[in-house]
Amino acid sequence: MFVLAAASRPRSWYIGVRLINMDNNKIVIPSGAQFIIEELAKHGHVAYVVGGCVRDSVLGRNPADWDITTDALPEEVKAIFPVTIDTGIEHGTVTVRIKHVSYEVTTYRIDGDYEDGRHPKDVTFTRSLEEDLKRRDFTINAMAYNDTDGLVDLFGGLEDLKAGVVRAVGNPTERFSEDALRMLRALRFSAQLGFEIEKETFAAIRTLAPTLAKVSAERIQVEVLKLICSDHPERMEQVAMSGLSAVFFPEWDAMLSCKQATVHHCYDVGHHTIVVMQGVPATKTLRLAALLHDVAKPLSKKTDKKGLDHFVGHPSLGAEMAKEIMRRWKLDNATIDEVCRLVRYHDERPELTPRNARRLVHRIGVDYMENLLVLQHADVLGQSDFQREEKLERIELLRSLYHQMLEEEACLQIRDLKVNGQDAMAMGIPKGPQIGEVLEYLLQQVIEEPARNEREYLMGVLEQWKNSEANR
Ligand code: ATP
Ligand code: MG
Repeated sequence: MFVLAAASRPRSWYIGVRLINMDNNKIVIPSGAQFIIEELAKHGHVAYVVGGCVRDSVLGRNPADWDITTDALPEEVKAIFPVTIDTGIEHGTVTVRIKHVSYEVTTYRIDGDYEDGRHPKDVTFTRSLEEDLKRRDFTINAMAYNDTDGLVDLFGGLEDLKAGVVRAVGNPTERFSEDALRMLRALRFSAQLGFEIEKETFAAIRTLAPTLAKVSAERIQVEVLKLICSDHPERMEQVAMSGLSAVFFPEWDAMLSCKQATVHHCYDVGHHTIVVMQGVPATKTLRLAALLHDVAKPLSKKTDKKGLDHFVGHPSLGAEMAKEIMRRWKLDNATIDEVCRLVRYHDERPELTPRNARRLVHRIGVDYMENLLVLQHADVLGQSDFQREEKLERIELLRSLYHQMLEEEACLQIRDLKVNGQDAMAMGIPKGPQIGEVLEYLLQQVIEEPARNEREYLMGVLEQWKNSEANR
């Protein structure tokens, strides 16, 4: 399977492009990566840092990781370094550990079809750096660098970086036909970097968007999360315009075309959602909750005789839809659980007595309350000016009630109760689901009246519970 293609050009062919927009035309490479490049050179090989780290260095961004590309075969890499891990050996990737830091070292390769996997189905190793750079998705991701050769930029990546353009390497239609995920990656990079997508590249996306359906949910999830957690979540609008969201998130298209004729709103559901995403910190749960909080509005919209829109029940229907969508994207259960709670309670506006505030904290869960307040605040800022001050004051009051509960170490969850499962069992309540049930019952009593969180009182309630169960 691993055919070694002949080097297509002498190494010097691409040397000497030293346009790099940095001090002394140099990228400062971490010592571990530098060491790997030098060790490989000592053994007669060539190696470069490549891809995202070169792009980010030129932009003055902090690279997430430093990938190395080399003409050495995996076995050759493994023979040189004492600590290596076969990360993706069949795709040419060996992880080299230098002083407890991991670097992925990948042999120059030509990719076969990507099919459904994270990696191409089969790869061909090559001794040509050019071939390796050619298989990469975008010009800005297809540059390599080492101190000896400087920046190797065969496809105008530096120019595109300067102009702020995401452009496919080579023919975009061909490149997106090889791997449809690249279309969503184009949108993701445009959102992370604030770049525009080059015209032909975007046109190819619009044509081939339906083929994203071939790509696995796991791969789509990675790109969607990076996109919505970027500095430009508003690029979700282009995701719809490109036709891509129709494949993995048709609910989004419906949100963008759902008008809201109400004094509370000045945007359609989709654009309101974008403003809310921009208004919350870029964490996975908050951005997902912002993205999905009004997902059920198109389905729950009812227009009254005066032409005003109402969206009764959209938070609870939204929580159900959010769950289905996040399962579709194969998100983890903890994330799904928290986001669904935030969606369900985002519009909760009880009369703000301390008791009602306690009830809300209990229902959403004490650990999720801070995020709920953040989401509610951003939600208001994404609405019209109507009653804005009052709406924000309300949230601040809820926040202060909540913080007061924390300061007073109020009992808000089962583990804060002055009795526990052992006590319930000692009372003769059998081990099993009943223990959880009775403790939840006690908690509800305490939420209603905090003074009830006394051992003697709660033991009395346990006794009553046991007796009433016995008489059932
Ligand atoms: P990030 O900062 O998010 O890690 P990145 O550019 O490093 O961004 P990765 O997904 O880590 O992105 O991929 C590393 C490099 O591998 C890319 O810069 C690109 O050169 C190449 N690459 C990754 N995925 C693809 C793909 N689907 N098609 C072609 N090239 C790809
Ligand atoms: Mg990377």
